[in-house]
Amino acid sequence: MGQQAINPEQIPKTQKAAVVRDKKVAIETVPVVQPSELKVGEALVKVLYSGVCHTDLHAQLGDWPLVHKEPLIGGHEGAGIVVAIGEHTDTDLKIGDRVGIKWLADSCLKCDYCRQGYEPLCHQALCSGFSVDGSFQQYAVSFARHLTKIPESLPMDKAAPILCAGVTVYKALKQSNARAGEWVVIPGAGGGLGHLAIQYALYMGLRVIAIDTGAQKQALCTKLGAERWIDFRETDDIVKAVKAATPDGDGPHAAIVTSAVGAAYEQALEYVRPHGTVVSVGLPPDAKVSADVFWTTFLEKQLKGSYVGNRQDAVEALDIAASGRVETTYTTLPFAKLPEVYGQMHDGSLVGRVVLDLWA
Ligand code: NAD
Ligand code: ZN
Repeated sequence: MGQQAINPEQIPKTQKAAVVRDKKVAIETVPVVQPSELKVGEALVKVLYSGVCHTDLHAQLGDWPLVHKEPLIGGHEGAGIVVAIGEHTDTDLKIGDRVGIKWLADSCLKCDYCRQGYEPLCHQALCSGFSVDGSFQQYAVSFARHLTKIPESLPMDKAAPILCAGVTVYKALKQSNARAGEWVVIPGAGGGLGHLAIQYALYMGLRVIAIDTGAQKQALCTKLGAERWIDFRETDDIVKAVKAATPDGDGPHAAIVTSAVGAAYEQALEYVRPHGTVVSVGLPPDAKVSADVFWTTFLEKQLKGSYVGNRQDAVEALDIAASGRVETTYTTLPFAKLPEVYGQMHDGSLVGRVVLDLWA
């Protein structure tokens, strides 16, 4: 019996889950882990909504140089309610708390990386919807110490995409060291991560150049406050266009590259201004960033990888969203639509984010 649980009778024995096998996804009926089966440190979360991240598609396609569990229940932008906590778990979480399941499901909190706040780099890190089952199920087991409380004033569906897309771009912007008044370019600006990056950038006082394609994404980026728009499909010389988009023609102070395809990275080090920083966020498999050693050194350009965020980044990203200054643009769809969402994501036709209603 779990240390705490709502009436265990209220927790069903089976549930709907999106299960990946052999690079295909299907909605199946699978068992619910019961409160009595929870281990120390684990919590059972009734998932209400889950955002769909391009990472879930990479996992389904198996295109990364990493091995995930199989069969796999994906999903790592889960917003739900704690319904049970494993016996002897040291936590201030309570039954009924509104919590978020993020990509980083667990880390040891004791190693060199965890102690410095680089929790995603922990050698014992577990990832929701990759190395452990994630939020594309109605009842997910997660780890109490890495669940993030969702502020009361933030609706659960709006909170879901902040748990990966939001926290990732918020932390990436911090990594860029760009300061208020400076310019940042966001390739992938009309996608799930990118459209939130525009808003966190504005929150930090930055000025935004958006790169993506199509009239709908242009309208979204402009509405959200991007001052310049570059359509990558209609622009022959991206480097020239990005440099020209800044008032002095020297290029932006930083680039936050959130595209899931490699082409967006090729020229990023060329178009940032001297002493500028390229923050690599998207995870296209087999892509390369090309850097001319002479000019990278001579112009003091910097390239940084940025991988999700730590527990504090998650709290800050959610608090900013709760303030209303950052708001996800999303379409809510029934859980069963996940395979179609993956198709649209693959085509690049999704604008903003899709949030799945696990109970529709
Ligand atoms: P998305 O599909 O919602 O958005 C990607 C956007 O990039 C689309 O709007 C697409 O039109 C645009 N794009 C494609 N080619 C482009 C080009 N050449 N130039 C500019 N834009 C281009 O995907 P998402 O959910 O926002 O995820 C984006 C990437 O970020 C994925 O690879 C995902 O795995 C990765 N990701 C990384 C982290 C991390 O911690 N580093 C966290 C979450 C997601
Ligand atoms: Zn993600």
